[in-house]
Amino acid sequence: GANLSGPSTLSTTTRSTTSTACPETGSHYPEIMRNLRTVFGLQSFRHNQLEAITEALNGRDVFVLMPTGGGKSLCYQLPAVCKTGKTQGVTVVVSPLLALMKDQVHSLQEKSVDVFLWNSEASWEEANHRMRGVKKPNLLYITPEKLKENNTAQNILGELYRKKLLARFVVDEAHCISTWGQDFREAYRDLNTLRARYPDVPIMALTATARKVTVDDITQRLKLRDDCAFFTQSFNRPNLYYSIVPKSKKWMESMMDFIAKKHPKQSGVIYCLGRDKCEDVAKKLKENGFSAKHFHAGMTQLDKDLTLDEWRKDKVNIIVATIAFGMGIDKADVRFVIHFSLPKSLDGYYQETGRAGRDGKPADCVLYFQFKDYMSVRNMIERPDNNNVPPSPESIKRQTDAAQAVVKYCQDISQCRRVRLLHYFDEKFDKVKCGNQCDNCAHPVPCVTRDVTREAREAVGLIRVFQERSELVTLAQCRDILRGANTAAIRNKHHDKEAQYGSARDLPSEVLDQVLQQLCLQDVLKEKSVQQASGFHSEYVVLGPEAQNFQRSKDKTYVDWRPKPGKASAPPSKKQRAEKPASQRLPAKGRRNAALEADPIELYDEDPP
Ligand code: ADP
Ligand code: MG
Ligand code: ZN
Repeated sequence: GANLSGPSTLSTTTRSTTSTACPETGSHYPEIMRNLRTVFGLQSFRHNQLEAITEALNGRDVFVLMPTGGGKSLCYQLPAVCKTGKTQGVTVVVSPLLALMKDQVHSLQEKSVDVFLWNSEASWEEANHRMRGVKKPNLLYITPEKLKENNTAQNILGELYRKKLLARFVVDEAHCISTWGQDFREAYRDLNTLRARYPDVPIMALTATARKVTVDDITQRLKLRDDCAFFTQSFNRPNLYYSIVPKSKKWMESMMDFIAKKHPKQSGVIYCLGRDKCEDVAKKLKENGFSAKHFHAGMTQLDKDLTLDEWRKDKVNIIVATIAFGMGIDKADVRFVIHFSLPKSLDGYYQETGRAGRDGKPADCVLYFQFKDYMSVRNMIERPDNNNVPPSPESIKRQTDAAQAVVKYCQDISQCRRVRLLHYFDEKFDKVKCGNQCDNCAHPVPCVTRDVTREAREAVGLIRVFQERSELVTLAQCRDILRGANTAAIRNKHHDKEAQYGSARDLPSEVLDQVLQQLCLQDVLKEKSVQQASGFHSEYVVLGPEAQNFQRSKDKTYVDWRPKPGKASAPPSKKQRAEKPASQRLPAKGRRNAALEADPIELYDEDPP
């Protein structure tokens, strides 16, 4: 099969002898340029567009990997109106979202391109007339569901095929065919029959999801030919500024301050986890004079359309949304994307942040992080679905791995965000090219690696003691015991009697927090939610599935941390601190509760930056 391999994913790769090295001299070139100017009103091509269009007209399968906003649509819209292609006739475009198709169809009609949208609103008569008539459309947009279930659709396509009137199949947002991605669509799966049914028709697949596993999966499922032309490019988005901000209790104030100072009256998206949260945050923003609306899957279609429309027309600036607000949101001037909740994967994070700055102008991507959010995601992953069917162990593993990768990304306080993010897409990115467009590059702070093997083992030992006594303990209580805190709570429960009491006295408390978090992240410890008589749930900590392995292993445990100015050995220099512009400074951290009678929430709410 045609696979992307190794470093070739970083550049344009074609695998056959037909070369696109110089599409300007090819036979299709004059026709392509004419259509570019007269039909689409554009002057020049963006990276890889001309090459992909040329190969499509040469009759080859084409795989286009391009970041969001890169200009994938043109790669199939333009060949559809060219008369020089090796295969002629209707270009069939499969796309996952109706809204997305409507937008495209509308804009093509404005350009006088003959296009037909076959959705549930189109009657059988209309479809019959358009597709069986003398003058067939250049492009047919169809949902995967229609293609799968509708007999008429299959009959009509069969007829066109026999008459050699199918120019090519286009699978837009092709990652929806892969169960690896978060956007998997059941009806997309059936696109794996296209090749067998229409063996002579070339296929073009397009996606902004660059992970090699996904690309290989799409290639196999669509049965792309061995000589498929692959077009890929760096997924770096140079105009986006990436930063992670610790989620303090005052995060709402911090966020509003950021928007008011840096993006007043500009378009933005804030991603939250639940519907209630979206509504809540949108309400607070409005109360504080911002123009904001919520958007989630629980709204009626009409409400969604209205909200989207207002946002598109800049009548509303900020959309507070769940990830239901996603694919196909084509607004060029989104100036910021804020994540209030932990993204489910780096892939998702990249796609969501990718909705900022599609016009190429500077935009901010801010993620508010607290470790507690990981624990919530982790719990959610294991939850049974609506029919009370528990998720499979593979699914739990896959989702947990994905969430852990996000946490590691957030906790990394030294490496360039781009290097890490693009590494996830198998792209080797040179940090120099970041141009200080991420927090870690822009504000380097000395970082210390500390061997915490002993303290980690004491922590696990302590939780084992509690488990053997069948006693429940919170993460915050563990921390206090390990620190040797002398509080009423500790004394009343005689917690100063445990062998581990005070055994991590030498560690700064934020480092000890990090040790405990790391153990949770490695599944050595895990959270257990217990319903109290009051109806509230309390989170306790117990040994996790990796506890045994951890205690047996001889591996050392390390944490990276930023020593606090004044307190620790290596504070950031005055110069480094002075260089930080006020608007980009991290929000002030509350003072840690001196009595150390911390509730479990507080432990996470005050994470070190
Ligand atoms: P993608 O599907 O890759 O996310 P789109 O096809 O929606 O991207 O294109 C994003 C934007 O870029 C659109 O507004 C489109 O009109 C514009 N665009 C695409 N190609 C060109 C080009 N060659 N010149 C100027 N603008 C372009
Ligand atoms: Mg697109
Ligand atoms: Zn960087």
